[in-house]
Amino acid sequence: MPDVPVSDALAHARRRLVDALARAGRDGEAAQLLAVSKTKPAALIRQAYRAGQRDFGENYLQEALDKQAELADLDAIVWHFIGPLQSNKTRAVAEHFNWVHSIERAKTARRLSEQRPAALGPLNVCLQVNVSGEASKSGVSPDELETLAREVAGLPNLRLRGLMTIPAPAEGLDAQRRPLAELRRLKERLDAQLPELALDTLSMGMSDDLEAAVLEGATLVRLGTAIFGARAGRP
Ligand SMILES: *Cc1c(COP(=O)(O)O)cnc(C)c1O
Repeated sequence: MPDVPVSDALAHARRRLVDALARAGRDGEAAQLLAVSKTKPAALIRQAYRAGQRDFGENYLQEALDKQAELADLDAIVWHFIGPLQSNKTRAVAEHFNWVHSIERAKTARRLSEQRPAALGPLNVCLQVNVSGEASKSGVSPDELETLAREVAGLPNLRLRGLMTIPAPAEGLDAQRRPLAELRRLKERLDAQLPELALDTLSMGMSDDLEAAVLEGATLVRLGTAIFGARAGRP
């Protein structure tokens, strides 16, 4: 169990987000909180849900499916897949999630579109971009972004919403802002190249760089530790 009750941590995280938006001169609802619940038990997700949280992010497919089954009674919960996605796992993701943030290849996107059950409506997706200094090697390179965006935007059962990145940890606001500013500029470039896509999402900002991300225009901040406490074992 975390040191702080989830409802308190969530209230604190919401205040942090609203304060950051105010300091950035942005509307108080211009960014939403995605609660990253990987490695945390379903009981904690339920607590966050009771405190009003609806959007949850998971990284590991089987763990997510198990928790979704336990939480099947929760209405209007929104599941986001934010981890690396292998192409042999796309079917379950297409069937059990509302969003995927980690699209980096056209092949994965094509499979998700083919496998998305029509009754669920389009799957919301973001393209994960490998901005300079990204923590892992995952993500599409900025050079290949436009091509991937065109292909994904043309898939019938996906709705391309925007861009996502996971920068390497950095100390200090200026260093944190640099890769996040790069993602913002890449979205602006894409908006100019493909205005008809009407992209509305910049998925960036985690527990340690929320303020930097909000200053650079984040619309969906992905907070794990700040809501559910530190994770043991897998990062
Ligand atoms: C784990 C994870 C987060 C949350 O990180 P915290 O530092 O715990 O807030 C956000 N995004 C992704 C993609 C993650 O894997």
